[in-house]
Amino acid sequence: MGKDVFQRCYDFHDAELVRQSGLYPYFQALEGSDGPTVRCNGREVVMLGSNNYLGLTHHPDVLRAAHEAIDRYGTGCTGSRFLNGNLALHDTLEKELAAFFHKEAALVFSAGFLANAGTLTLLADDPDVVIFSDADNHASIIEGLQRVRGEVRIFRSPDDLRAKLAGQADWSHALVVTEGIFSMTGRVSDLRPFADLQKQYGFRLYLDDAHGIGVLGPQGRGTAAEQGLLDDVDLLFGTFSKSFASVGGFVVGEARVIDYLRHRARTFMFTAGLPPASAAAALAALRVMQEDDEMFERLAANAAFLKQGLERLGWFTMGSRTPIIPAFVGSESLSFRICKDLLELGVFTTPVMYPAVPYGQALIRTSVTPALTRAQLQQAIDAFAVVRHRYPIPPVDPENLPRTEGMDYTYFLTQG
Ligand code: PMP
Repeated sequence: MGKDVFQRCYDFHDAELVRQSGLYPYFQALEGSDGPTVRCNGREVVMLGSNNYLGLTHHPDVLRAAHEAIDRYGTGCTGSRFLNGNLALHDTLEKELAAFFHKEAALVFSAGFLANAGTLTLLADDPDVVIFSDADNHASIIEGLQRVRGEVRIFRSPDDLRAKLAGQADWSHALVVTEGIFSMTGRVSDLRPFADLQKQYGFRLYLDDAHGIGVLGPQGRGTAAEQGLLDDVDLLFGTFSKSFASVGGFVVGEARVIDYLRHRARTFMFTAGLPPASAAAALAALRVMQEDDEMFERLAANAAFLKQGLERLGWFTMGSRTPIIPAFVGSESLSFRICKDLLELGVFTTPVMYPAVPYGQALIRTSVTPALTRAQLQQAIDAFAVVRHRYPIPPVDPENLPRTEGMDYTYFLTQG
């Protein structure tokens, strides 16, 4: 007898186990938001769990642009940009993005996931190319590199990449794919070794800077711009779902490459265009980024305040120098327990565990925006002080992070 295709769903018990422990942290229904705070379970809590790095979801120019776009175009594109869903707004957004990054052209997709997956599938689906993909790359990159005809090789560090390239003098048929800021730990890539290897071997460089754009570099041009290496990036990926306060994603690069993507990337052609309000919000955010330098200073000051506050309490923040500030816990189930307690203390954070980080390296991910006040940040630090006293969190050796064989279930096995 054949197997019921739903059998694997019926056999899935992980979420229920965590629900029964009372520590299930996902799908919290937010009832409202003003940016720095959200309403959750009928209470206002300080939001340290978003990617709203510039706090632009509630900026007056961004709100106005979204409202006006709805008035002008309605609520949806009702079709692919390829056919009936292309708005003048999309074209303007692409022009201004390309100019902002000093590249020839840009292509806007309806989600960052679709931009990464569609672009990489298209480029990698050729038996003559080799793709070197960073082991820590985002799921949308991994998705794009599934079932392609090119050879996909994983590298773990620039040194590992160097070793993998060493056997051959010319890699002009290769694409190297990495990220600017790794989203869970806030680790910033040093892109210099990639640029040097590129000069030596002639490969193309694809940079996913979802978390770096809006955060690092002049006017938020990202990790490569901060390191003076924007010209070395052949295709730069960004998303509107973080600093740009909207939804959607884009790639910028050479005009002929972008034109090919526009006519061949399935995740672009066979889905409806980015809705008017979302496109307008992203465009307004891009303009605000170029006008308000002070916003970046406030962001850096808030990040430093929270990081120092957590470190003073003994939390290990993994060397972060971005608005993403992890508080290292170790045990997976304890990180869930702590998130629940923090929420009860009025602070929204998210637990991060395997496979986003190795087993035994679970953490609480926090992130700040320029809109958070000192009082709100201090409230968060005070909550972290309470949980620090409540639970046994061992000191961490930064050079030697703990690793375990599997997940620590301890706190899932006791009723929360
Ligand atoms: N790349 C990275 C590094 C990301 O963190 C994300 C979003 N989590 C994406 C790509 C996908 O972006 P989007 O949310 O626009 O689909």
